[in-house]
Amino acid sequence: MPDHRLPDGPPFAIRARILSPLSAGGNLWEPDGLLQVDDRGRIGWVGPAASRPDAAATAIDLRPWLLLPGLVDLHAHLPQLPNAGLGAGLDLLTWLERYIFPLERSWEDISVAQRLAPLAFRALAASGTTTALLYGTVYAAALDAAFRAAETHGIRAIIGKVMMDRVTYDETIDPATIPERSLRESIELCERWNGADDGRLRYAFTPRFAVSCSEAMLRESAAAARAHGAYWQTHVSEDRAEIAEVARLFPEASGYVDVYDRAGGLGQQTVLAHAVHLSERELARLVETDTRVAHCPASNLFLASGLMPLSRYLSAGLSVGLGSDVAAGPDLSIFSAMRVGFYTQNALRVVVDGDAPPALGPLDWLRMGTLEGARVLGLDAVIGSLETGKEADLIVVDPALTVPVPGIDSDDPADLMSRLIFRAHPAMVRGAWVRGRLLEGSG
Ligand SMILES: [Zn+2]
Repeated sequence: MPDHRLPDGPPFAIRARILSPLSAGGNLWEPDGLLQVDDRGRIGWVGPAASRPDAAATAIDLRPWLLLPGLVDLHAHLPQLPNAGLGAGLDLLTWLERYIFPLERSWEDISVAQRLAPLAFRALAASGTTTALLYGTVYAAALDAAFRAAETHGIRAIIGKVMMDRVTYDETIDPATIPERSLRESIELCERWNGADDGRLRYAFTPRFAVSCSEAMLRESAAAARAHGAYWQTHVSEDRAEIAEVARLFPEASGYVDVYDRAGGLGQQTVLAHAVHLSERELARLVETDTRVAHCPASNLFLASGLMPLSRYLSAGLSVGLGSDVAAGPDLSIFSAMRVGFYTQNALRVVVDGDAPPALGPLDWLRMGTLEGARVLGLDAVIGSLETGKEADLIVVDPALTVPVPGIDSDDPADLMSRLIFRAHPAMVRGAWVRGRLLEGSG
């Protein structure tokens, strides 16, 4: 095990095994690599250590640890972490009522948010997540506290106050005033936080889902997101009962996606979670509008929501990254999302496609959990891979914790990644940096 202390801020240079997807396609694999972070927290150079012997000799030597891009979690619920792993097998709507709404209601007390948000960011960093797109609760003060915690922690975060005016757990205010108040509070939070710390923190208007939002709230939140250059996030087509309820509530819409389409919610700055049961027409419309999707396979199996036909979506040109969906997903780790996603695609191959070969290998899942996640957020020119000029969002993992017999390691990048996915160890992430700054809770 390397005996060096991890660098806690730029500039620094690390010598390690290095693996990353590349923006132009293919992967960077350096069994003895060097990565230099400049004083602005950007990747100044990355490549074989032998090419820069002087720098390599003075670099912090973390071999045989493996340097990867930081993971991108496109869907998680900040206040739900305490109930992760509870309620397996319930359907979505029952699980929300029983396990989730009471938990989110507790954030009405701002001290709860102030205590739990920093812990959630530490847990994300410990899992290797350096960028997260998050839902808060309906309470504006709690969301402000969450942003303050993210600002201090150093993680790259996009967060939104949950908006609900149809079914809500907020019993403190007159229902008639909810839509206007929720929109006003969301706009205030957006104006305060969107783009903060030179773009590290951003805002997402966050109507929870069509079941809990009126048509007006969906439409006005989408318009506000556009006007402010912010993201718009919600859930779509997660489970059958939910889809039936949306059809009942929005009889004029041709389907679930059409509810958001009519509200002006589709587009490049929109991230829809789940999208498990899309019709061909819905899939085509998402591709046509360049709307992006957060695939949350662990959540989809935990709540028995369904199996996303990922290969069909990718073939159609849909932009897809990965989400933990904590707490419907029991684990914050994007390595876990990769594993369950892989199993889900194997299950579909067995049931639907006969003995077709796997469409996605371990390195494809790494790409989806990093560079594709960044692309979903429109940040792929900034983060998502270890390439010169990008901001230094990175993690270092100890692959030795994933090998079944001590000392039996591999130097094949697909083998290494396969072990990280299928034998992920809770302590294998040894460090996580955003812009070259070591995140609290990692390492
Ligand atoms: Zn969710």
